[in-house]
Amino acid sequence: MTHPLLDVRNLKTYFYLRRGVVKAVDGVSFRLNRGEALGIVGESGSGKTMTALSILRLVPYPGKIVGGEIIFKGRDLLKLTEKEMRHIRGKEISLIFQDPQNSLNPVFTVGWQVGEAIELHSEGKPLWDRIIEKVINILRGVGIPRVEDRVNDYPHEFSGGQKQRIMIGMSISNNPDIIIADEPTTALDVTIQAQIIDLLKDLRSRYNSSIILIAHNMGLVSELCDNVAVMYAGRIVEYGSIEEIFNDPLHPYTRMLLRCIPRTDIDVDKLESIPGEPPDPVNPPSGCRFHPRCPYAKEECKRDPIYIENIDGHMAVCELYRR
Ligand code: SF4
Repeated sequence: MTHPLLDVRNLKTYFYLRRGVVKAVDGVSFRLNRGEALGIVGESGSGKTMTALSILRLVPYPGKIVGGEIIFKGRDLLKLTEKEMRHIRGKEISLIFQDPQNSLNPVFTVGWQVGEAIELHSEGKPLWDRIIEKVINILRGVGIPRVEDRVNDYPHEFSGGQKQRIMIGMSISNNPDIIIADEPTTALDVTIQAQIIDLLKDLRSRYNSSIILIAHNMGLVSELCDNVAVMYAGRIVEYGSIEEIFNDPLHPYTRMLLRCIPRTDIDVDKLESIPGEPPDPVNPPSGCRFHPRCPYAKEECKRDPIYIENIDGHMAVCELYRR
């Protein structure tokens, strides 16, 4: 049996606020194989980003990882020292942030910033000329035009799409095993979004990197991912292959998310949205946390534990399937 590259088991990340405890990630488990692209989807506040930050142990105060295991290449990341984690971050697991505008430092050239990421994880002290040569190759590889002339330019001299390409270049500069892309196209227009997804696809096939794509847009996930985990209020409510999720969604929340994908092939007066509001994170509903918004909710849905349907790995946490 081959072991997954990443095995997240029953991960729990809680925030201790004055008004109560927010269970931002509440018992999340999934696996990621080498070369696989996994999409994590859900509305804002569903716990997607906190799951990603937990993997890198970058949960902001007052959040805390309170339970679970994150097994990466056979080691539990939650048991490593901070020094060992610094080696993992950026070198073995890298993160592409949502907003390249605020992720690049405006006072340093892009060449210096990508070069610094390479130098930080290099053995010994490579010559800066050698590093810049590598930076030029990386930036050319992510589609920055006339890169030899532009390597000493500052972030404000690049467009939004180019800045995101530079961030992606930085994230692959040390050939990481896993790239976590947290809503990498949010700040970009639709054409540039498609180009960034094509770039991630290309990098994946070139380097056999595994990708975790965090998105609220199911359409983007369908372009890149093999498998999808759907999150709601801190929990995974459905997991399956991209074909299973799109052709045979089991969970009512997944079905509603799919109906929200904008269509270009039909005329619609207004975009679909999911009725109701996500729950109060301090006092989530009992049982299935989706029950106040679910058209199929029944009494059993308000009690724990909720039935887990699992058909050959296509899993949904929902009382509709209890026989
Ligand atoms: Fe709806 Fe009940 Fe299924 Fe939750 S468990 S999604 S409330 S049918």
